Amino acid sequence: MPPKINLQKCDGCRAEKEPLCEQICPGNLMTLKDGKAFCRSNRDCWDCMSCTKICPQAAIETRLPYQLGYYPAKLIPRMGTNSMMWTCSDINGKTERFVVKTRNS
Ligand code: SF4
Ligand code: SF4
Repeated sequence: MPPKINLQKCDGCRAEKEPLCEQICPGNLMTLKDGKAFCRSNRDCWDCMSCTKICPQAAIETRLPYQLGYYPAKLIPRMGTNSMMWTCSDINGKTERFVVKTRNS
């Protein structure tokens, strides 16, 4: 499923010429449209979640494919310095959080 962009939260990386989500997308799918992030080809997105993880405004949400969870199930990563927190909401709104270390000190 393609990324879902919260237009209220997205600040266009403060008018950077190439916002972070655009820089990191391996398929070169993300861009800016009217100052907000935009996925130019939803069908080419392969759910790598790189754009979701790197967004400093937490403005990108990953919609889970129906094989994993029906709408409105979602998975939201939040990058920390040494870990990543995943918030998983199921179709009933039940939320669980998991913290995964991303760096060994
Ligand atoms: S990285 Fe986040 S804030 Fe920056 S343009 Fe993309 S969605 Fe918007
Ligand atoms: S999930 Fe991956 S492939 Fe899809 S738009 Fe984001 S960075 Fe690109």
